[in-house]
Amino acid sequence: MKKRILIAEDESIIRMDLKMMLQDHGYEVVGEAGDGDRAVELAFELKPDLVLMDIKMPKINGLQASTIIGQQLDLPVLLITAYSQKEFVEKSKQDNIVGYLVKPISESSLMPAVSVALHQAENAKKLKKSIRTAQDEIQKRKLIEQAKGLLMEKEKLSEQEAYKLLRNQSMSRQLTMELLAQEIISKYAD
Ligand SMILES: [Mg+2]
Repeated sequence: MKKRILIAEDESIIRMDLKMMLQDHGYEVVGEAGDGDRAVELAFELKPDLVLMDIKMPKINGLQASTIIGQQLDLPVLLITAYSQKEFVEKSKQDNIVGYLVKPISESSLMPAVSVALHQAENAKKLKKSIRTAQDEIQKRKLIEQAKGLLMEKEKLSEQEAYKLLRNQSMSRQLTMELLAQEIISKYAD
């Protein structure tokens, strides 16, 4: 599937140029914005894979737009900047800013930057997902431990007996261990 890119750049000639270069390389340009407000609006509406964002734009600037997009949508942004703003960009530590390009932008600088940015974003997404899975797993184990502890205490069971009871009930009632644990915890909570 084609990667979907949103371009935010107030100079229409540059915007068109970027669009053509991206399309020539098989990317889909899903939206074009000429100011920061519109960039945010389109990012919400289109949820692209990547936003190419000029910094100096009317209304809210590209950095402010990137911050909003990062906080609310967690979309990667590749910044476009004039040479004079280079250091400013280097200092910006917004998580979702995956890189920057200095104008004038040539095809040979744009294409690798876009490809790396998309790749990084993909990896970051995977990483976040695996962290979430790990956190869920820890949470689940905590619940099961807690339920087991309650059964041991209230029902005077050994650890093994408590665990066995949990496992048997989970199977016979076709409940996940987690749900069963929650049920037991709330039962003894009253
Ligand atoms: Mg500009």
